[in-house]
Amino acid sequence: MIRELHQKLINREITATELAEQYFAVIEKKDGDLNAYLTLTKELALEQAKKVDEKIARGEAIELLEGIPGGIKDLILLEGVRSTGGSKILDNYIAPYDATVVEKLREVGAVFLGKTNCDEFAMGSSGENSAYGQTKNPHDLTRVPGGTSSGSAAAMGAGMAAWTLGTDTGGSSRQPAAFCGVVGLKPTYGRISRYGVMAAASSLEQIGIITGSVEDAAIVLSAVSGRDRFDATTGDSFDKKFEDYLTGDVSGMKIGIIKEHLSGLREDVKKVMETVLEKYKKLGAEIVEIELPHNKYALPAYYIINFSEISSNLARYDGVKYGMRSDDKKETDLTDADFVEEKNLLETYLDTRQYNLGAEVKRRIMLGTYALSAGYYDAYYLRAQKVRTLIKQEFEKVLQEVDMVLTPTTPTPAFKIGENTNDPLQMYLEDIFTVTANILGVPAISVPAGTVPVDGKDLPIGFQLMGKWFDEENLLRAADAYERMLIDKK
Ligand code: GLN
Repeated sequence: MIRELHQKLINREITATELAEQYFAVIEKKDGDLNAYLTLTKELALEQAKKVDEKIARGEAIELLEGIPGGIKDLILLEGVRSTGGSKILDNYIAPYDATVVEKLREVGAVFLGKTNCDEFAMGSSGENSAYGQTKNPHDLTRVPGGTSSGSAAAMGAGMAAWTLGTDTGGSSRQPAAFCGVVGLKPTYGRISRYGVMAAASSLEQIGIITGSVEDAAIVLSAVSGRDRFDATTGDSFDKKFEDYLTGDVSGMKIGIIKEHLSGLREDVKKVMETVLEKYKKLGAEIVEIELPHNKYALPAYYIINFSEISSNLARYDGVKYGMRSDDKKETDLTDADFVEEKNLLETYLDTRQYNLGAEVKRRIMLGTYALSAGYYDAYYLRAQKVRTLIKQEFEKVLQEVDMVLTPTTPTPAFKIGENTNDPLQMYLEDIFTVTANILGVPAISVPAGTVPVDGKDLPIGFQLMGKWFDEENLLRAADAYERMLIDKK
């Protein structure tokens, strides 16, 4: 799709300005219902588009992403634009600099439509934890779009962007992509710089890419990845283009499946997954049953590590360094307690956090602090890290037998808004298939697999491929081959 838009631009069938205007028109029409965008950056977008038009008018060559409009998750800094991270505590925060990914996208001439809604500080699976209202699923407005990159996925699902950036700590780009019927990529840990991204669980998270096709994800990945001196966890840059690896050929490729995963699935989802496996066999891939006995501990280990790192990272939101402080509350929100003449520092911290952080964020800070505290550290955080090592060792062994592992992206299609709100554990269980890739740091992608009928609507389902560390080219090739097969069939 990006390639088609690029063709239109260079054939002068449309100008970059018209293209941006078209997307803003769709946003205008649909976003009142969907609430995918928190801030629109129309002035900036039109300025960026104009530069591309001038370049085309001068007869200069343009890059694939040049003039192509997209959205950026509100957790990622865009200089001079409000960046809330979905939290009230950053309600008045204007990003003072560009995240490295944003800078890279600017360099290739991409156009920025705006900042997308998300669960507060990337905690959640449904978009219900945003301080700025629920994002809805474009396939059924009574259902969640998934989370935490809820706005990015909904915007893609509704044609309100040509590409979007999300983040992915435990599935936040893949799960909403699956729920909204689009592609979600979590690259290898270290593939993309996290400089300028609000940190939540630093050892797990990566920038995610949400697009309408696997090729588009490859194109965006080529533009935003690479070593960055501002992020010491980044690996070597890939000096080729990922999109050049999409040959459609998967013959001889070995794809592992975990038997228990499929047998425990609900019937309709299972059927879709079986069709996916059949298609891969037809394409010449070999399906191999594998065992990952410790993988069942991935979810509890993930949540202990996630909570612990969050409790440490979120200490920065204290009302002094960033964003809101309790005194910044609107007049109408004030209670008698706020009229205490002078507050000491501790009171300022406590008030700021009490009033400006949401319930899920507070829950995680408390549980994480507990898991890290003296006397409990060994039993929780340390143990979770040991489990992580065990899973990693198992996975390394498995990767000697197979090239990648296939699972569903989620156990169910999009659930109803409110369905899991009062049951955090049920909500956490939604991540059962996605967290392993974050625990391991391997790249993973969610690809639309089909739909299942629920209450008279066809809801999208995604399948996930998990690959080898820094082997996005093969992962993308396998994912793209599946998509190509469907297109060729049409
Ligand atoms: N749902 C998971 C969580 O709440 C994943 C979130 C994410 O990837 N940011 O932690």
